[in-house]
Amino acid sequence: MTKQVAIIGGGPAGLMAAEVLSAAGLCVTVYDAMPTFARKFLLAGKSGLNITHSEDFARFAERFGSASPRLRPALNDFTPDDVRQWATGLGTETFVGTSGRVFPTVMKASPLLRAWLKRLETQGVTLKTRHRWAGFDGDGFCFITPDGETTIRPDAALLALGGASWPRLGSNAAWVPWLKGQGINVHDLQPANCGFDVAWSDVFIERFAGAPLKSVSTTSDAGTYPGEFVISKHGIEGSLVYAHSAALRDRLARDGKAALTVDLMPGRVPERLARDLARQDARASFSNRLRKGAGLDGVKAALIRELSADANRLPAEQLAALIKVLPIPVLRPRPIAEAISSAGGIAWSEIDERYMLKSRPGLFAAGEILDWEAPTGGYLLTACFATGRAAARGIKNWLSNN
Ligand SMILES: Cc1cc2nc3c(=O)[nH]c(=O)nc-3n(C[C@H](O)[C@H](O)[C@H](O)COP(=O)(O)OP(=O)(O)OC[C@H]3O[C@@H](n4cnc5c(N)ncnc54)[C@H](O)[C@@H]3O)c2cc1C
Repeated sequence: MTKQVAIIGGGPAGLMAAEVLSAAGLCVTVYDAMPTFARKFLLAGKSGLNITHSEDFARFAERFGSASPRLRPALNDFTPDDVRQWATGLGTETFVGTSGRVFPTVMKASPLLRAWLKRLETQGVTLKTRHRWAGFDGDGFCFITPDGETTIRPDAALLALGGASWPRLGSNAAWVPWLKGQGINVHDLQPANCGFDVAWSDVFIERFAGAPLKSVSTTSDAGTYPGEFVISKHGIEGSLVYAHSAALRDRLARDGKAALTVDLMPGRVPERLARDLARQDARASFSNRLRKGAGLDGVKAALIRELSADANRLPAEQLAALIKVLPIPVLRPRPIAEAISSAGGIAWSEIDERYMLKSRPGLFAAGEILDWEAPTGGYLLTACFATGRAAARGIKNWLSNN
């Protein structure tokens, strides 16, 4: 009899596993709690959809921090080039943006998702929405469905339930206590690729919430990156902040304090800035000295005042040094519900090389539910696709041996 596989969670990881398993002739059902599949993938498409990244593969594969070695075999088997070919196979051409990020030419996810779901149906996959997994019943999986409760006992199952960011799109991490209840080690889910709270004054928020800081460079334990970020009413937001978010979050946890250091004038060395500032008329207003001596006005000038109340009294060299190294103390990451992704999840020690939970033979896991994190830029989706495929291969092998 054909073996039955249940895939719980119909995001990128689960759908990719369904594609591989159904192509291998297995009887696959994908269950999702929401009325439609892959809502986070669709939302990602609304802001441009980085489907993968074109940088050198060796570097790409190192972007997953301490999880990089564990993810490497899956990534070797489904590289960024494979992601692009796969998308092309579904009628979505891609291009490499100036940042090296890879986007669908149409800049959205919906045509790709439509073609993908169609392919799955053609391959015989049963797609069940509004089926919310509600925990274990011995070796069974309980679901809440529009027709009431039901328990399934498939030959193998995959958990592809995502992390904990944007819970209203489906991944609400309700599974954490159920897995912990089985003695499975789940590392705390934490915000990744997120903004941070900053203790801005009311006056600063009123005038500058929403203002972008363009052409700056920022430094944390993660390194130095150029770009832009946004002042929000809570603190700081934007892709340049996300690039530092793991480093800032981890330093806050370790030391109780952390700061993102901003260089407001990356193009000018401090000596030149100091000379230009020193040339200004000492009787001129601080704003005029900053504008004429350093080319700083608007939100950049206001940020200096906000973070250093006596900046107007500093000698030129010290003011120049502050403009080049302006620390923004961050209080805490924004809540996980607002983050692009989450860190933490099922510990790697619980998973064997087939992506099977060691303590529950026949139960596998893939995607963001596992304990890894990566920057934005296509790394997240690529690893979800790759682990979905790797887990599918694991399921296939396990079923053929059992
Ligand atoms: C705003 C935004 C933009 C993003 N942009 C990008 C980008 O450009 N590039 C990139 O690489 N990544 C991006 N990401 C991240 C990427 O979308 C995720 O990493 C990826 O979707 C995770 O895939 P997954 O399959 O592991 O989980 P998910 O996509 O979260 O899917 C999990 C599925 O499981 C279902 N589920 C959860 N609990 C249950 C339950 N109890 N019962 C049944 N079903 C359940 C959910 O409904 C959901 O459909 C973005 C994320 C956000 C929020």
